[in-house]
Amino acid sequence: MVITLVVLGSGGTIPTLSRHLPAFAIQCDGELFLFDCGEGAQMQFVKAKLSFARLEGIFISHLHGDHIMGLPGLLMTMSQVPRERPLYIVGPPGIAEFVEGNRRFLGVQYPFPVEIQETSGGVLYDRNRVRIRAVPARHSCFTLAFALEEYERPGRFMIEEAVRLGVPEGPVYGKLQKGLPVTLEDGRTILPEQVLGPPRKGRRIVYATDTRPCEEVVRLAQDADLLIHDGMFDDDLRDQAHQKCHSTVVQAAQVARRAGVGQLLLTHLSSRYFSDAPLLEKARNVFPHVIMARDLLEIDVPMQP
Ligand SMILES: [Zn+2]
Ligand SMILES: [Zn+2]
Repeated sequence: MVITLVVLGSGGTIPTLSRHLPAFAIQCDGELFLFDCGEGAQMQFVKAKLSFARLEGIFISHLHGDHIMGLPGLLMTMSQVPRERPLYIVGPPGIAEFVEGNRRFLGVQYPFPVEIQETSGGVLYDRNRVRIRAVPARHSCFTLAFALEEYERPGRFMIEEAVRLGVPEGPVYGKLQKGLPVTLEDGRTILPEQVLGPPRKGRRIVYATDTRPCEEVVRLAQDADLLIHDGMFDDDLRDQAHQKCHSTVVQAAQVARRAGVGQLLLTHLSSRYFSDAPLLEKARNVFPHVIMARDLLEIDVPMQP
Protein backbone atom coordinates (compact mmCIF):
# COMPACT_ATOMS: atom_id res chain seq x y z
CA MET A 1 0.00 0.00 0.00
CA VAL A 2 1.24 3.49 -0.83
CA ILE A 3 0.68 5.91 2.06
CA THR A 4 1.14 9.61 1.33
CA LEU A 5 0.43 12.60 3.54
CA VAL A 6 -0.56 15.82 1.78
CA VAL A 7 -0.54 19.01 3.84
CA LEU A 8 -3.47 21.18 2.79
CA GLY A 9 -3.28 23.71 5.60
CA SER A 10 -0.21 24.22 7.77
CA GLY A 11 -1.32 27.35 9.60
CA GLY A 12 -3.62 27.77 12.56
CA THR A 13 -6.08 30.28 14.05
CA ILE A 14 -5.40 32.96 11.37
CA PRO A 15 -4.55 32.14 7.74
CA THR A 16 -1.59 33.81 6.04
CA LEU A 17 -0.65 34.19 2.39
CA SER A 18 1.36 30.99 2.57
CA ARG A 19 -0.48 28.98 5.20
CA HIS A 20 -4.09 27.84 5.00
CA LEU A 21 -6.02 26.70 8.04
CA PRO A 22 -5.57 23.12 9.29
CA ALA A 23 -6.35 20.26 6.91
CA PHE A 24 -4.27 17.13 6.27
CA ALA A 25 -5.08 14.46 3.69
CA ILE A 26 -3.69 10.95 3.97
CA GLN A 27 -3.91 8.84 0.84
CA CYS A 28 -3.82 5.07 1.39
CA ASP A 29 -3.76 3.56 -2.10
CA GLY A 30 -7.09 4.62 -3.59
CA GLU A 31 -8.65 5.90 -0.39
CA LEU A 32 -8.37 9.34 1.07
CA PHE A 33 -8.79 10.35 4.70
CA LEU A 34 -9.03 14.00 5.69
CA PHE A 35 -8.01 15.24 9.13
CA ASP A 36 -9.58 18.60 9.97
CA CYS A 37 -11.16 20.82 7.39
CA GLY A 38 -10.12 24.44 7.81
CA GLU A 39 -11.57 27.14 5.59
CA GLY A 40 -10.41 26.77 2.00
CA ALA A 41 -9.65 23.06 2.34
CA GLN A 42 -11.55 22.25 -0.85
CA MET A 43 -9.48 24.73 -2.89
CA GLN A 44 -6.33 23.14 -1.49
CA PHE A 45 -7.79 19.77 -2.46
CA VAL A 46 -8.02 21.01 -6.05
CA LYS A 47 -4.50 22.49 -5.99
CA ALA A 48 -3.10 19.23 -4.65
CA LYS A 49 -4.94 17.35 -7.43
CA LEU A 50 -6.72 15.13 -4.93
CA SER A 51 -9.96 13.43 -5.90
CA PHE A 52 -13.16 14.32 -4.01
CA ALA A 53 -14.58 10.98 -5.15
CA ARG A 54 -11.88 9.11 -3.24
CA LEU A 55 -12.66 10.78 0.07
CA GLU A 56 -13.57 7.99 2.48
CA GLY A 57 -13.82 9.86 5.77
CA ILE A 58 -13.34 13.23 7.43
CA PHE A 59 -11.98 13.24 10.98
CA ILE A 60 -12.38 16.46 12.94
CA SER A 61 -10.17 17.09 15.97
CA HIS A 62 -12.30 19.77 17.63
CA LEU A 63 -14.94 22.36 16.98
CA HIS A 64 -12.84 25.52 16.82
CA GLY A 65 -13.65 27.46 13.66
CA ASP A 66 -10.18 27.18 12.13
CA HIS A 67 -10.60 23.38 11.98
CA ILE A 68 -14.18 23.08 10.69
CA MET A 69 -15.13 26.12 8.61
CA GLY A 70 -14.11 24.35 5.40
CA LEU A 71 -16.67 21.58 5.96
CA PRO A 72 -19.83 23.28 4.62
CA GLY A 73 -18.12 24.19 1.35
CA LEU A 74 -16.44 20.84 0.91
CA LEU A 75 -19.70 19.01 1.58
CA MET A 76 -21.57 21.20 -0.90
CA THR A 77 -19.01 20.26 -3.53
CA MET A 78 -19.21 16.60 -2.52
CA SER A 79 -22.99 16.72 -3.07
CA GLN A 80 -22.22 17.29 -6.78
CA VAL A 81 -19.86 14.31 -7.02
CA PRO A 82 -21.37 11.02 -8.26
CA ARG A 83 -21.04 8.52 -5.48
CA GLU A 84 -22.96 5.71 -3.80
CA ARG A 85 -20.77 4.62 -0.91
CA PRO A 86 -21.12 6.43 2.41
CA LEU A 87 -18.96 9.33 3.50
CA TYR A 88 -17.92 9.10 7.14
CA ILE A 89 -17.63 12.21 9.25
CA VAL A 90 -16.20 11.65 12.70
CA GLY A 91 -15.61 14.23 15.40
CA PRO A 92 -16.26 15.27 18.97
CA PRO A 93 -19.79 15.72 20.37
CA GLY A 94 -21.42 18.62 18.52
CA ILE A 95 -20.08 17.74 15.07
CA ALA A 96 -23.43 16.27 13.97
CA GLU A 97 -25.28 19.48 14.84
CA PHE A 98 -22.68 21.55 12.96
CA VAL A 99 -22.88 19.42 9.81
CA GLU A 100 -26.62 18.88 9.88
CA GLY A 101 -27.39 22.52 10.79
CA ASN A 102 -25.30 23.77 7.88
CA ARG A 103 -26.85 21.24 5.53
CA ARG A 104 -30.38 22.39 6.49
CA PHE A 105 -29.51 26.08 6.32
CA LEU A 106 -27.88 25.75 2.91
CA GLY A 107 -30.58 23.40 1.59
CA VAL A 108 -28.05 20.76 0.49
CA GLN A 109 -29.07 17.19 -0.31
CA TYR A 110 -26.47 14.47 -0.46
CA PRO A 111 -27.11 11.78 -3.08
CA PHE A 112 -25.14 9.31 -0.90
CA PRO A 113 -25.27 8.37 2.78
CA VAL A 114 -23.39 10.67 5.14
CA GLU A 115 -22.66 8.81 8.35
CA ILE A 116 -21.80 11.13 11.20
CA GLN A 117 -20.23 9.70 14.33
CA GLU A 118 -19.73 11.71 17.49
CA THR A 119 -17.01 10.26 19.68
CA SER A 120 -14.80 10.83 22.66
CA GLY A 121 -12.19 8.33 21.47
CA GLY A 122 -11.51 4.67 20.63
CA VAL A 123 -11.40 2.83 17.31
CA LEU A 124 -13.32 4.91 14.76
CA TYR A 125 -12.57 3.17 11.48
CA ASP A 126 -11.37 -0.37 10.84
CA ARG A 127 -11.48 -1.66 7.28
CA ASN A 128 -9.55 -1.74 3.99
CA ARG A 129 -6.29 -2.43 5.89
CA VAL A 130 -6.58 0.85 7.79
CA ARG A 131 -7.51 1.48 11.41
CA ILE A 132 -8.09 4.96 12.84
CA ARG A 133 -8.12 5.50 16.59
CA ALA A 134 -8.45 8.61 18.70
CA VAL A 135 -7.63 9.70 22.23
CA PRO A 136 -8.47 12.97 23.96
CA ALA A 137 -5.72 15.59 23.69
CA ARG A 138 -5.43 18.66 25.96
CA HIS A 139 -6.84 21.83 24.52
CA SER A 140 -9.20 24.60 25.60
CA CYS A 141 -12.18 22.57 24.35
CA PHE A 142 -12.62 18.82 23.93
CA THR A 143 -10.12 17.74 21.27
CA LEU A 144 -9.17 14.42 19.71
CA ALA A 145 -5.74 13.28 18.57
CA PHE A 146 -5.86 10.63 15.82
CA ALA A 147 -3.68 7.70 14.81
CA LEU A 148 -4.02 6.22 11.32
CA GLU A 149 -2.59 2.70 11.44
CA GLU A 150 -1.93 0.27 8.63
CA TYR A 151 -2.82 -3.33 9.49
CA GLU A 152 0.06 -5.62 10.39
CA ARG A 153 1.56 -7.05 7.20
CA PRO A 154 2.49 -10.74 6.68
CA GLY A 155 6.12 -11.59 7.22
CA ARG A 156 8.78 -11.76 4.54
CA PHE A 157 8.51 -14.76 2.14
CA MET A 158 11.49 -17.06 2.68
CA ILE A 159 12.13 -18.53 -0.78
CA GLU A 160 14.93 -20.83 0.43
CA GLU A 161 12.54 -22.39 2.92
CA ALA A 162 9.85 -22.83 0.24
CA VAL A 163 12.38 -24.52 -2.06
CA ARG A 164 13.60 -26.76 0.77
CA LEU A 165 9.99 -27.84 1.46
CA GLY A 166 9.49 -28.58 -2.24
CA VAL A 167 6.82 -25.92 -2.77
CA PRO A 168 6.52 -25.39 -6.54
CA GLU A 169 7.16 -21.87 -7.77
CA GLY A 170 4.10 -20.03 -9.10
CA PRO A 171 0.64 -19.09 -7.81
CA VAL A 172 1.14 -21.22 -4.69
CA TYR A 173 3.77 -18.72 -3.53
CA GLY A 174 1.21 -15.93 -3.79
CA LYS A 175 -1.35 -17.82 -1.69
CA LEU A 176 1.18 -18.51 1.05
CA GLN A 177 2.28 -14.87 0.97
CA LYS A 178 -1.34 -13.84 1.57
CA GLY A 179 -1.42 -16.07 4.64
CA LEU A 180 -3.38 -18.97 3.12
CA PRO A 181 -2.44 -22.66 3.62
CA VAL A 182 -1.89 -24.73 0.46
CA THR A 183 -2.07 -28.45 -0.26
CA LEU A 184 0.61 -29.77 -2.61
CA GLU A 185 0.10 -32.47 -5.25
CA ASP A 186 1.74 -35.03 -2.97
CA GLY A 187 -0.93 -34.33 -0.36
CA ARG A 188 1.22 -32.37 2.09
CA THR A 189 -0.26 -29.17 3.50
CA ILE A 190 2.09 -26.21 3.85
CA LEU A 191 1.14 -23.54 6.37
CA PRO A 192 2.03 -19.90 5.70
CA GLU A 193 4.04 -19.67 8.93
CA GLN A 194 6.39 -22.36 7.54
CA VAL A 195 7.58 -20.02 4.78
CA LEU A 196 6.93 -16.55 6.20
CA GLY A 197 9.06 -14.57 8.63
CA PRO A 198 7.52 -12.79 11.64
CA PRO A 199 4.62 -10.40 10.83
CA ARG A 200 5.75 -6.86 9.99
CA LYS A 201 4.19 -3.95 11.79
CA GLY A 202 2.10 -1.55 9.77
CA ARG A 203 2.90 2.12 9.35
CA ARG A 204 1.41 4.69 11.75
CA ILE A 205 0.75 8.39 11.36
CA VAL A 206 -0.41 10.43 14.37
CA TYR A 207 -2.17 13.79 14.09
CA ALA A 208 -2.19 15.85 17.28
CA THR A 209 -3.25 19.47 17.07
CA ASP A 210 -4.41 21.55 18.86
CA THR A 211 -2.89 20.43 22.14
CA ARG A 212 -0.54 21.10 24.97
CA PRO A 213 2.18 18.44 25.26
CA CYS A 214 0.51 15.51 27.00
CA GLU A 215 0.97 11.88 28.01
CA GLU A 216 -2.03 10.75 25.97
CA VAL A 217 -0.35 11.87 22.75
CA VAL A 218 3.05 10.45 23.78
CA ARG A 219 1.36 7.06 24.24
CA LEU A 220 -0.66 7.30 21.03
CA ALA A 221 2.45 8.29 19.06
CA GLN A 222 4.69 5.53 20.47
CA ASP A 223 6.95 4.33 17.62
CA ALA A 224 4.84 6.12 14.99
CA ASP A 225 6.48 6.63 11.60
CA LEU A 226 5.25 10.21 11.45
CA LEU A 227 3.91 12.53 14.15
CA ILE A 228 2.11 15.71 13.08
CA HIS A 229 2.11 17.89 16.18
CA ASP A 230 1.02 21.33 17.28
CA GLY A 231 4.06 23.62 17.13
CA MET A 232 2.36 26.97 17.32
CA PHE A 233 4.92 28.95 19.28
CA ASP A 234 8.63 29.54 19.68
CA ASP A 235 9.87 28.29 23.01
CA ASP A 236 10.21 31.81 24.46
CA LEU A 237 6.39 31.95 24.42
CA ARG A 238 6.01 28.84 26.57
CA ASP A 239 3.66 30.62 28.99
CA GLN A 240 1.44 31.85 26.20
CA ALA A 241 1.41 28.36 24.65
CA HIS A 242 0.31 26.93 27.99
CA GLN A 243 -2.41 29.55 28.49
CA LYS A 244 -3.79 29.04 25.00
CA CYS A 245 -3.52 25.24 25.27
CA HIS A 246 -1.04 24.87 22.42
CA SER A 247 2.59 23.66 22.25
CA THR A 248 5.93 25.24 21.49
CA VAL A 249 8.14 23.71 18.83
CA VAL A 250 10.51 22.48 21.55
CA GLN A 251 7.67 20.86 23.50
CA ALA A 252 6.53 19.11 20.32
CA ALA A 253 10.10 17.87 19.78
CA GLN A 254 10.14 16.54 23.36
CA VAL A 255 6.90 14.62 22.69
CA ALA A 256 8.44 13.19 19.48
CA ARG A 257 11.63 12.15 21.31
CA ARG A 258 9.73 10.50 24.16
CA ALA A 259 7.44 8.66 21.75
CA GLY A 260 10.40 7.52 19.63
CA VAL A 261 8.75 8.51 16.35
CA GLY A 262 10.49 8.35 12.98
CA GLN A 263 9.76 11.91 11.95
CA LEU A 264 8.09 14.98 13.43
CA LEU A 265 6.10 17.42 11.32
CA LEU A 266 5.42 20.69 13.14
CA THR A 267 2.20 22.46 12.25
CA HIS A 268 -0.37 25.10 13.31
CA LEU A 269 2.43 27.66 13.18
CA SER A 270 1.37 31.07 14.48
CA SER A 271 0.94 33.78 11.84
CA ARG A 272 3.49 35.94 13.73
CA TYR A 273 6.43 33.93 12.35
CA PHE A 274 7.79 34.77 8.92
CA SER A 275 10.80 32.48 9.03
CA ASP A 276 10.69 28.97 10.41
CA ALA A 277 14.48 28.36 10.39
CA PRO A 278 15.12 29.60 13.98
CA LEU A 279 12.18 27.52 15.26
CA LEU A 280 13.39 24.40 13.49
CA GLU A 281 16.87 24.85 14.88
CA LYS A 282 15.55 24.90 18.44
CA ALA A 283 13.38 21.85 17.81
CA ARG A 284 16.29 19.97 16.21
CA ASN A 285 18.39 20.43 19.33
CA VAL A 286 15.86 18.17 21.04
CA PHE A 287 14.83 15.85 18.21
CA PRO A 288 16.78 15.75 14.94
CA HIS A 289 14.18 14.40 12.50
CA VAL A 290 11.88 17.39 12.37
CA ILE A 291 10.45 19.40 9.51
CA MET A 292 8.00 22.28 9.36
CA ALA A 293 4.73 21.65 7.57
CA ARG A 294 4.04 23.87 4.58
CA ASP A 295 1.01 23.94 2.34
CA LEU A 296 0.93 21.29 -0.38
CA LEU A 297 3.93 19.45 1.04
CA GLU A 298 3.70 15.72 0.28
CA ILE A 299 5.38 13.08 2.40
CA ASP A 300 5.52 9.44 1.36
CA VAL A 301 5.61 7.14 4.34
CA PRO A 302 7.78 4.22 3.24
CA MET A 303 7.04 0.62 4.14
CA GLN A 304 8.80 -0.79 7.18
CA PRO A 305 11.70 -3.07 6.21
ZN1 LIG B 1 -6.51 25.61 15.73
ZN1 LIG C 1 -8.23 24.99 18.76
